[in-house]
Amino acid sequence: MPNDICHNLENVQQRITKACKEAGRSPDEITLVAVSKTKPVDDIKEAFKCGQVHFGENRARELQDKMEDYENNELQWHMVGNLQTNKIKYMVERVNWIHSIEKSKYLSEIEKRASRIDRVINTLIQINISGEDQKSGCEPKDLKEILKYAQGLDHVRVRGLMGMATFVDPEDVESVRPEFKMLRKLRDDHRKYEAENVSLNELSMGMTNDMEIAIEEGSTMVRVGRAIFGERNY
Ligand SMILES: *Cc1c(COP(=O)(O)O)cnc(C)c1O
Repeated sequence: MPNDICHNLENVQQRITKACKEAGRSPDEITLVAVSKTKPVDDIKEAFKCGQVHFGENRARELQDKMEDYENNELQWHMVGNLQTNKIKYMVERVNWIHSIEKSKYLSEIEKRASRIDRVINTLIQINISGEDQKSGCEPKDLKEILKYAQGLDHVRVRGLMGMATFVDPEDVESVRPEFKMLRKLRDDHRKYEAENVSLNELSMGMTNDMEIAIEEGSTMVRVGRAIFGERNY
């Protein structure tokens, strides 16, 4: 039901506006990334028609297929899922943002591939904020080295940090607040590593269940899937 997508987008925008109001922030500070994983390209087209510009995918192959299927220069593609070095070459041609940098090696691969086609890719360093072993992201203590490494690169721009909170039942969502606080503090503590191509202004945190808390804690990018496109079947 395509109309639902527009309606859902409006609802999400209202949630963002309300959360900003309560936090004394402006909704202009928040970029909504619509996470379209597992959903067809037609859903992306529908959302674009309703004014949605930023789209996120979490699998390299699916991102590649969708970027090829739907060529639209006004659209911004975000890779939000786990990376592998050998997948990077397939996305650099079109992707605008990569949220899931957890080691310098990924930055060097992006630099190598993007320099050949003279593109500059926006990146975020993903931090393991949940403390769970299986969760992706680098450890907070590794951030400094990654930022220092990034400083020398011409085709990589670091724009901030990304984190995924622990999955909890919607009624327990308040319990993830300390994880968002931690990401923000980590950002504040690493401002000294900012450089011409390294800034830490963006905090990519907050999803369908926890975006309000993330916004209260300083999020500038919320990555929202289910509240826009509906539940996923897989
Ligand atoms: C799926 C996914 C989201 C969106 O999650 P929802 O609960 O559907 O809003 C956000 N970020 C990442 C990295 C994801 O994989």
